[in-house]
Amino acid sequence: MEEQTPENSTALTEDCGGNPCSTTLKNLYEYLDGALTAEEIQEIQRHLDACSHCAEAKDLEVLLRAKIKSSCDEQAPESLKARLLEHIDEFCSASA
Ligand SMILES: [Zn+2]
Repeated sequence: MEEQTPENSTALTEDCGGNPCSTTLKNLYEYLDGALTAEEIQEIQRHLDACSHCAEAKDLEVLLRAKIKSSCDEQAPESLKARLLEHIDEFCSASA
């Protein structure tokens, strides 16, 4: 039995309307900090609705923040942010 399973599905590789994932994810922290304009927030929300990758990243960040906040009342350390972004970049470029 030989069945071809294409390694790169094209279904999830598009930029999901509006901002590309990279822009959305870079603005994610400002978004969560409430540091964006209403317009920017809307754009990000629109993207998050359309893009499960970014929605997951957002959920993860929200979880992280809640955890960090409850444990030591500090902001996410830069290294953690960097690692998260790196992971996301990998994820995005792998499917591009
Ligand atoms: Zn996205």
